[in-house]
Amino acid sequence: MHNKSVAHLVQGLREKQFSSVEVTRCFLDRIAARDSQYNSFISVDETSALAAAKAADKQLAGGDAATLTGIPIAHKDIFCTDGMRTSCGSRMLDNFVPPYDATLIQRFKRDGAVILGKTNMDEFAMGSSNENSFYGPVKNPWNTDLVPGGSSGGSAAAVAALLAPAATGTDTGGSIRQPAAFCGITGLKPTYGRVSRLGMVAFASSLDQAGPMAHSAEDCALLLNTMAGLDPLDSTSSEMPVEDYRARLDNSLEGLRIGLPREYFGDGLDKATGECINVALKELEAQGATLVDVSLPHSQLTIPTYYIIAPAEASTNLSRFDGVRYGHRCDNPTDLHDLYTRTREEGFGDEVKRRILVGTYALSAGYYDAYYKKAQQVRRLIKQDFMDCFEQVDIIAGPTTPGPAFALGAKSDDPIAMYLEDVYTLAVNLAGLPGMSVPAGFVDNKPVGLQLIGRHFDEARLLNVSHRYQQATDWHLQHPAGGQS
Ligand code: GLN
Repeated sequence: MHNKSVAHLVQGLREKQFSSVEVTRCFLDRIAARDSQYNSFISVDETSALAAAKAADKQLAGGDAATLTGIPIAHKDIFCTDGMRTSCGSRMLDNFVPPYDATLIQRFKRDGAVILGKTNMDEFAMGSSNENSFYGPVKNPWNTDLVPGGSSGGSAAAVAALLAPAATGTDTGGSIRQPAAFCGITGLKPTYGRVSRLGMVAFASSLDQAGPMAHSAEDCALLLNTMAGLDPLDSTSSEMPVEDYRARLDNSLEGLRIGLPREYFGDGLDKATGECINVALKELEAQGATLVDVSLPHSQLTIPTYYIIAPAEASTNLSRFDGVRYGHRCDNPTDLHDLYTRTREEGFGDEVKRRILVGTYALSAGYYDAYYKKAQQVRRLIKQDFMDCFEQVDIIAGPTTPGPAFALGAKSDDPIAMYLEDVYTLAVNLAGLPGMSVPAGFVDNKPVGLQLIGRHFDEARLLNVSHRYQQATDWHLQHPAGGQS
């Protein structure tokens, strides 16, 4: 049961091959038996998961079930869950039990999905390796000496290790796609505004977006159907109508034009990773797509631009953690100033402090024009590069990351080396576009991800291309040796 896709679980529940309680029990037992190896979950509440499964079984029996009714899903611990701790990977929120559900959680509940647990993550979603969590690093199920990627590393590892059939993640600069690539699963970062951000702890509000992480494009489509849509309580959520993301999965790729940005195939790309990507592109070509050479001339500016804008927004968002309203509070403050400083000193980890310092600096009087405003102007140019490409092509393809997963500890003392991990993913967030990572082979037994980037709100096409690719390949069906039994 544990190695079935969401689509197969949906079918099995309808055909009464098993109940939601049985499926949920199976995954809870696997988490209990195996997660000490991976550390992919922060919180699991077996009692409420089984109660939700029981309720789902009733709905299924009554015939009024939604597609995801009874499917257990793991959620990144960034989404507020009513009555269940939401830590965001931080000591600051270690004691925070939200009094409400994020809109995304509400939607999964509305459709009868079961909350399997809350997954580990880099603190406040800042990181590319999952080594920044207050709850300790997550290990890559393909090789526990390697990082799983970040910041949604717990979600990626849980799916890869078959501890959850699917999970949610968030992506501010690559945090769905990069861990999906490192763990050999499929992840989709939707268009900015496609999924509500209400109740999702804010990192960089103009970049943050939630999306599905699963074994296949088809499963991502099933999850996106539940997640996507206007939320009147989030003014940045989009009014664009939501389509049935399954409807176009099987469309032919005949005539599809795929742009290959030459900047994504240059010096920084690991050779063996590049070869996997080229083989994947040949497969898409064999299905009738045309490969077109394109350019994203401002690519070299994406890392500096992102690392001004994201910390700037983070520094304002994180000012709410003051020890007064909720979350951690230092013991015995002597005065208000002591309360603020000691609470924040104790509650935040090093990377979060680094971002707050950089962001506060970039926003301060005298520096705002030189840094933040300039970064916003460059952001516009980066977006324009994509718009120009999409005049010529339907999607853009390339590697998700410059190379496969690296060893735990290898980059944790070198923030710049860590930031370079995001070189192919950041621009997608700066431009607000949808992007996906699809398993596309292995380098030394380490998974490699193919990145596909689409026009705004063209998620259905990305899912279509990924699905067709997955019909012809079996990379997404391979599981780490330890997870099989
Ligand atoms: N790795 C990037 C960062 O550290 C992106 C993180 C994310 O997408 N949440 O900011």
